[in-house]
Amino acid sequence: MTSLTCRTTRLTILLGLTVLVGPCFTPVVQAAAPFARFQAPGFSRISIGEIEVTALSDGTTKLFASKVVDEPTEQTAAALTQAFEQEPLDLSDNAYLVNTGTRLVLVDTGGGGYLGPTLGKLRGNILAAGYKAEQIDDVLLTHMHRDHIGGLTADGAAAFPNAIIHANRIEADYWLSRGNRDTAPERMRPRFDGVVESLAPYIAVGRFKPFDAGGEVLPGILAVASYGHSRGHTSYVFETGGKRFWVIGDLINVAAVQFRSPDVSTTFDGDGANASASRNRIFAQIAADGALVGAAHVSFPGLGHIAKAGSGWAWVPVGFQSGSDRPASTP
Ligand SMILES: [Zn+2]
Repeated sequence: MTSLTCRTTRLTILLGLTVLVGPCFTPVVQAAAPFARFQAPGFSRISIGEIEVTALSDGTTKLFASKVVDEPTEQTAAALTQAFEQEPLDLSDNAYLVNTGTRLVLVDTGGGGYLGPTLGKLRGNILAAGYKAEQIDDVLLTHMHRDHIGGLTADGAAAFPNAIIHANRIEADYWLSRGNRDTAPERMRPRFDGVVESLAPYIAVGRFKPFDAGGEVLPGILAVASYGHSRGHTSYVFETGGKRFWVIGDLINVAAVQFRSPDVSTTFDGDGANASASRNRIFAQIAADGALVGAAHVSFPGLGHIAKAGSGWAWVPVGFQSGSDRPASTP
């Protein structure tokens, strides 16, 4: 039946009932509505053991994977095809807010105002997730690249005014060294300056606390050296109720390539061989434990498990958990 064949029509439906439909009308098409473009708030929540983990999106950025991975272009193209991805990738930048029951701990802070309009959404997503930046007790930094520390400040002031900022002493000493900055290639100097700017409001009031990796940085939270991507790149392990939640920062950057081929490094790595060794060592530990993982650059929310797969690894995303704000209902 079309608008051009407008006539009364008998429809026979189940149980032998008949209905009369007609006269016909011209369908009204609600076309030309604008594309919405904006997204759902960027947070996703999961409980593990006795803690609550909220993955927070800082946004995504375009990345040409073949330009940053250290392998032949054809191999990268094949890996992307197998993952149903294409250049440029939409690379997630994720942070993780953990409510331990006694403190609110944020791991990494996104890019803030440093990396363009598609990033810097962390602050809004903290609010959308039901918290205020002022409530955060501690910020743990995996490392001091701009997409992880940029959100420490907003308009030059501390974005988390009541938080203590924790980072590996090796990482802090490297980026805060005036000598390292002045002897670095010209193009690298803004990165050193960015670290100084980002930490300055916290250092000024004694709220920056470097630590030595290998022990507890906070009760129930271990700092694990995972060097290579940067000098003092550090992963964090939340131990809770016999379970573990690892936040691994940039232990992996291009998921479609580096899970399958973990020995492939990227131009983002300061020391590619060391980064690959750390990746394999820590992935083996995570896989053996069956631990939950939060990964900064695995597609948001970047929450999942890691399993052995051939000579590499497989990423197994966790399922979505509904929140408990409303009673369960049956459809
Ligand atoms: Zn990163």
